[in-house]
Amino acid sequence: MLTAQQALDHLLSHAKPVAEIESVPMQATLGRVLAESVNSLVDVPPLDNTSMDGYAVRTADTQNPGSVLKIAQRIPAGSVGTELQAGTAARIFTGAPVPPGADAVVMQEDCSNLEGSTDQVQVNIAPAFGQWIRRRGEDLTAGKTALTAGTFLRPQELGVAASAGLTHLNVKRRVKVAAFFTGDELSLPGEPLKPGGIYNSNRDTLLACIKALGCDATDLGIVPDRLDATRAALRQASQDHDLIITSGGVSVGEEDHIKPAVTAEGRLDLWQIAIKPGKPLAFGAVRKSEQANDGEAWFIGLPGNPVSSFVTFLLFVRPFILKLQGREANQTQSYLMRADFDWLKADRRNEFLRVKLNNNGGLDLFPNQSSGVLTSASWGDGLVDCPPNQPIKVGDLVKYIPFDALLK
Ligand code: AMP
Ligand code: MG
Repeated sequence: MLTAQQALDHLLSHAKPVAEIESVPMQATLGRVLAESVNSLVDVPPLDNTSMDGYAVRTADTQNPGSVLKIAQRIPAGSVGTELQAGTAARIFTGAPVPPGADAVVMQEDCSNLEGSTDQVQVNIAPAFGQWIRRRGEDLTAGKTALTAGTFLRPQELGVAASAGLTHLNVKRRVKVAAFFTGDELSLPGEPLKPGGIYNSNRDTLLACIKALGCDATDLGIVPDRLDATRAALRQASQDHDLIITSGGVSVGEEDHIKPAVTAEGRLDLWQIAIKPGKPLAFGAVRKSEQANDGEAWFIGLPGNPVSSFVTFLLFVRPFILKLQGREANQTQSYLMRADFDWLKADRRNEFLRVKLNNNGGLDLFPNQSSGVLTSASWGDGLVDCPPNQPIKVGDLVKYIPFDALLK
C-alpha cells in the first residue's frame, strides 16, 4: 500500500502545466490562472495623498500645539493644489494630493476654527512628519511586478490589476476535464429508482468540485458496468480533454471494469492507498487515437462510495489539476486545532474524519463516519487528518483541513 504522500508525489511527478495562453479582458479573468507576471503601468497611489479630511501643513510651522495658520487653498479629491507657502495650511479631503511643500496632514478633529475668522485655522497638536500621508507608490510601483505568474485570480487580484491600469491579462487556457460515473445501480434524480438502485450523487459532487477549481467540466453521464461501454466512454472522454475522472468500478471484482478498460485504451496503475475513506485509486492515461503521436488524456479513477470519491478528489485530483493549471500544488493547507471528541478506535490506515468547527474554538466529530454517508461532509466544515494507529482524545491537537481551502 502507498501512503497518501507517496501517491500524491507520484501524481504530481507526471502533471505538467498546460502550455496554451489566452489574452482575456481583465474583468473576465475571475477564477483563471495568470500565465505571466504583469507589471504595474503606474505608481499606486500616483501621488502622495491624504488619508484624512483635515489640513495639509508644514511641520516647521506647527512645532507647538496651538499654531495659527492661514487657510490658503482648498483641495478636494480629484484636484491638485499649489506649493504650500510658509505659514499657511491647505484645507484637504481624503484622497486629495498633498501639495508640494506640505509634509504632514492634521485631521480636522485636531484643529479649531478661530472665532470670527473663516480663513484661519488653529492646529491643536504638533503633527509628526509624514502624518496621514499615503506615499506615492506605496502600494505598487510603475514597471514593477503587480501580480506573479501562477496566481489564481480572485476578486482582490482583479482589483490589483485594475489599480495597475491593466485591461487584459494573459491567462492559461482552462483545463478540460471529462467525467463519467460507473454503476448499473445508478439513476438520475427525476427518474424512478431501479430495484436495488441509488441516485448518482457523485456526478453532482465531482462536477461541482471540477468547476470550483476553474476547469471546464464535461459530464459524460452514467456508464453501465460493462467492458465495451466503459471502453467507449473512455475513447469519447479522451477527445479534447486533459483529464478523465470516473467514479466506481476501481476494485478488482467481476463487475469492476475500469482496470481492463483503461489498460486496453491506454495504461493504468491501480493503487491501494493506506487511507480511509478511499483506499483504491486508479491512475493512468488514455490514448486519443491509435496514432502514437496524438497524445493522451490523463486518467484518475475514484472509488464509488460518495465520501470516498469526494475525499480522494480533494486530496489527489485537486493537486493534480492545480499543477495542470500552472498553480502551486504543494502541501494541502492545514491547521492545528483542538479535538473536542474521542476517536479511540484508530485505524491502521490514515483516516480523514469529517468534523465541524464549534463555538468554543474546537472540533466536533460527525457520529457516522461511513464512506457512504455523504451528509457527514455536508454537516462538516472539513477533515481531520488522523495518522495511522493514533487514537484521538478530547483536548488533543489535531491536523484540520478546511473544505473551503480545497474547493478553489
Ligand atoms: P464501487 O466503487 O463501484 O464498487 O461502488 C461502491 C459503492 O458506491 C456502491 O455502494 C455503489 O452503489 C456506490 N456508488 C458508486 N457510484 C456511485 C454514485 N455515482 N453515486 C452514489 N453512489 C455510488
Ligand atoms: Mg460499481
